[in-house]
Amino acid sequence: MDEVELTQNGNWIGVWGADWVLEGCASCNGVFVLPPDKVSQRCPFCGQAALAQMDPADNRPIYTQPPELLVPFGAAENQLRASVSKFAKSLWLAPADLNENALLGRLQPIYLPMWLVDAQVQGEWQAEMGFDYEIVSHREQFKNSDWQTERVKEKRVRWEQRVGRLQRQYDNQAAPALEEQAQVEAKIGRFDLKAQKPFQPGDLHNSVVHLPNRPPEDAWNEAVVGLQTAVAQDCRLACEADHSRGFKWSPRFANQQWTQLLLPLYTSYYLDDDNRAQMVLLHGQTGKLHGAKRVSMKRAQRVAGMIAVIAAVFLLLTLALLAVGFTVAEGALAWAGVAGVLTVGVGGTAVIPLLYAWYFNSVQGKS
Ligand SMILES: [Zn+2]
Repeated sequence: MDEVELTQNGNWIGVWGADWVLEGCASCNGVFVLPPDKVSQRCPFCGQAALAQMDPADNRPIYTQPPELLVPFGAAENQLRASVSKFAKSLWLAPADLNENALLGRLQPIYLPMWLVDAQVQGEWQAEMGFDYEIVSHREQFKNSDWQTERVKEKRVRWEQRVGRLQRQYDNQAAPALEEQAQVEAKIGRFDLKAQKPFQPGDLHNSVVHLPNRPPEDAWNEAVVGLQTAVAQDCRLACEADHSRGFKWSPRFANQQWTQLLLPLYTSYYLDDDNRAQMVLLHGQTGKLHGAKRVSMKRAQRVAGMIAVIAAVFLLLTLALLAVGFTVAEGALAWAGVAGVLTVGVGGTAVIPLLYAWYFNSVQGKS
């Protein structure tokens, strides 16, 4: 890894571009590289704090090297619009800020980092290899007043212990460069790495780049898990086996080469009742959306208030009809009964929006 060339004011020259700025978020601890016009805005990743300028020499972010590869944004604009529009309409009693225009206006392209590692692997391995075979048996069945013989094929697996040695080069083993990568992929799906191309500074346009918060030495353990899966698979294929189990190995690794790859993501947000940003993520390739869902208690209270006003009108009507019934015309008492039932019925529904908002937010708050 080369040292990053730094200048006094915290910017650095080189592939990122001389005027690109390094900023950090005090809430999610994310470190970002931004074009100068995006400086000190709300954190595009967590939305919970304004970004603050960092001095790479002082604050020593984990990793500031530019990437080698990039998966470009590929989702069509109408696809993004459709996802956002559907989400904005999906919530009853949504906060006023949760609307299509606000979400689209705040859409921020952001690249997330990931590692690809090449490594030479050698070592001994052992595993049980399973080979499929069929046995044929005959079953006697009494059918149509006669005994009939039926041929029955049954699949079985023969297990054999195998040992071997392996020496091989494995390329492009994926490993997370962000603590949050699994969380993001669980929400919007995985990225198609086949679309990758060599990184060029011009690709960034007005995007923000999230720098790795896991250095290669940290991500290596996960890469080894992936390598073991790949090696176990190769050993099984070499044995021409159909299954394998109990794979054990004592690997040695050499010549690890790390490559940083950027993945495309859009983020947006809306403000809830407490003016807290609720994040909305969109997959940069597929347009798949995941948004935090909060409904507005204020709005629920307004709806409940309107229902209460209608119930109060029915209550007045009930009282008026009772008065008429007892003094002038007895027939009004029956109508007073109907109005009374409506008062109770309508009044009772006033709690529904309140209960709904309370329940929805407490359930979503836990998820
Ligand atoms: Zn943040």
